[in-house]
Amino acid sequence: MPWPPLRDALVGDEPYGAPQLDVPVQLNTNENPYGPSPAAADDVAAAVREAALGLNRYPDREFSALRRGLTDYLNSDGGRDLTPDMVWAANGSNEVMMQILQAFGGPGRTALSFAPTYAMYPEYARNSLTEWVAARREDDFSLDLDKARQLVQELQPAVVLLPSPNNPTGTALPPEAVSMLCEAAGNGLVVIDEAYGEFRRDGVPSALELIDTHRNLVVTRTMSKAFALAGARLGYLAARQEVVDAIRIVRLPYHLSAVTQATALAALRHAPELLGRVADLRIERDSTVEWLRDQGCAVADSDANFVLFGTFADRHAVWQALLDAGVLIRETGPEGWLRVSVGTGEEMAAFRAALTDVIATHPPTTVKETR
Ligand SMILES: *Cc1c(COP(=O)(O)O)cnc(C)c1O
Repeated sequence: MPWPPLRDALVGDEPYGAPQLDVPVQLNTNENPYGPSPAAADDVAAAVREAALGLNRYPDREFSALRRGLTDYLNSDGGRDLTPDMVWAANGSNEVMMQILQAFGGPGRTALSFAPTYAMYPEYARNSLTEWVAARREDDFSLDLDKARQLVQELQPAVVLLPSPNNPTGTALPPEAVSMLCEAAGNGLVVIDEAYGEFRRDGVPSALELIDTHRNLVVTRTMSKAFALAGARLGYLAARQEVVDAIRIVRLPYHLSAVTQATALAALRHAPELLGRVADLRIERDSTVEWLRDQGCAVADSDANFVLFGTFADRHAVWQALLDAGVLIRETGPEGWLRVSVGTGEEMAAFRAALTDVIATHPPTTVKETR
C-alpha cells in the first residue's frame, strides 16, 4: 500500500481549480463582477446575526424556508408549478451533482457527457466509482441528435450530465435535444446543468419548462454566477419529488449550515438587485463576441457570461502574455482555444487593449467560422 494510502484511481491526480492569482483584472472563473450593494450586505449580516443566536442547535435539515424561496424564484424563471418538495439544495451545484452521482451512479453504472464540457464531471464520476464516458460534440459545439440518441440507447447511462449553456463553449441545448435525451435515457436521469441559465439570449428556453413532461429530467442551478453569490456556496436543483427524496438518502446530516441558509434566504429577498446587472452582462457578452470576431478570431456563440475564442498555435503563450498585462483569463477548452469571463465595462476594455497587443505577435490561426 502506498503512503499516504490513496485509492489507486486518485494517484497522480491534482486537486481541481483555476489559479487564484491576485491580478487587477480577473476574468477566469465566470463570477458576476458586480458584488452585492451595502444594503444587501447589511440584510445578509442581520440575517446571519439572527441565525448566530441559535448556532448551538443543528440547522433545519430540510431547509424548508429556503426551499420555498428557491421554488418561488424558479417558478418566476421558467418553472411551471414547482413545489418545494421538487427542489433540493447543497453547498454549490457541485455538491448537488456529486450527490446525484452518489445516489444514482456507482459501480457498474455509467455517467455520460459530451466534450468539451465541464471539467468537474469526470471527478464526480471518479469519486462515486461511476464509469465515465465523454462522447464528442460537433465542430460548432452542438450535439448531433441522431448520434447522441444512438449512444444513449447503446450505453444506457444511469446519468447524462450536460450543461446548458455549456461550459466552456457557451452553447445552449435546444428543447428538442433535452426531450430526445430524456426519451432515449429510459429510467436513466438527464441532468441539465443550468449554472448559466439566467444569461440565455432572448428566445432560448430553460429546461425547467420540460420538468412536467419528463420524469427523468433534473435541472440544476446555482447562486454562484448570475446571482452574484459565489462566496456563499449555494446550488440547487428541480426534479420530480421521488428523485429529490432519493437524493436525501445520501446527503450528509445538516449539510446546509444555518449561516448558509440565512445568507441564501436574505440574498433571495434581494434577487432583483443581485440579478440586476445580468442584462448589462449579456450586452457586454454580445459585444465581446462581435469584437473578437472583428479581430479575426473564431468565437463560439454564447448564451453564458463567458466567451470561448481562438484558435492560437500557442494558447499558453497568449494566456501568459495577457496575465503579464494584468488580465487573467482561462486556459481551457479544446486545444488552441481560450475562455474569457464577461466582466465590467472597464475590465473588458482592459482585456481588449491587452489582447490587441498580444494578437500582434500571436495572431489567431483560424480558418473556418465557428458559429
Ligand atoms: C460554475 C459552474 C457550476 C457552479 O458551481 P457551484 O458549485 O454552484 O459554484 C456548475 N456547473 C458548471 C458547468 C459551472 O461552470
